[in-house]
Amino acid sequence: MAVPVQVAEQRSQQLASYEQAVSACTRCRLAEGRTQVVFGSGNPDAELMFVGEAPGFHEDQQGVPFVGQAGKLLEKLLAGIGLERADVYIANVIKCRPPGNRDPQPDEIEACESHLFRQIELIQPQLVATLGNFATKLLTGKPLGITRVHGQEQWTTLGGNRVQLYPLYHPAAALYTPRMLQVLEEDFARIPQLLGTDDVPKPVLQLAPAPEPTVQLGLF
Ligand code: SF4
Repeated sequence: MAVPVQVAEQRSQQLASYEQAVSACTRCRLAEGRTQVVFGSGNPDAELMFVGEAPGFHEDQQGVPFVGQAGKLLEKLLAGIGLERADVYIANVIKCRPPGNRDPQPDEIEACESHLFRQIELIQPQLVATLGNFATKLLTGKPLGITRVHGQEQWTTLGGNRVQLYPLYHPAAALYTPRMLQVLEEDFARIPQLLGTDDVPKPVLQLAPAPEPTVQLGLF
């Protein structure tokens, strides 16, 4: 649905100014080892938002989420449903890279999660796809793992908005597990239906196996 120009401009400005504020955040110890805060990127008016775990090495260097092999796979999956990166918004629960890509600690999650909730409040997406176990458990508030709940949409309230949550396998996990990739593709194929845009023509996917693992713990 098209957003009125004034609303879009205001939202974009608010998001940019929040990003500016978060770029100096020192609420938790992860500020000490980061190259930069990886706030998020994409369309401030996105109907579809993806939420992963935390920045890895390349994300920390470039300041953009999902820029490695997992990001490439995410882009291919998006292309498969007629979308580009610029159509969606991509963020992580944790905005600074944990050292050695270790799992984020509970106090770090507690310190950082309000940044994500504020992003959701500003963007007001219709659908929030959680990528992997970590984001899924946090945003559903339930202990059920991704293998149990992937592909099952559910309504919840995030950042003061009613949104549909849609848990998916993390692309980094699917890179090296063909069966998981197949399930991820199948779950992705339902996104247009959930967004109410399932009349969009779907290009043929050609997914090549990717090298170079940067798989983090807790992704599946
Ligand atoms: S991880 Fe989050 S809370 Fe911690 S310093 Fe970075 S932005 Fe702030």
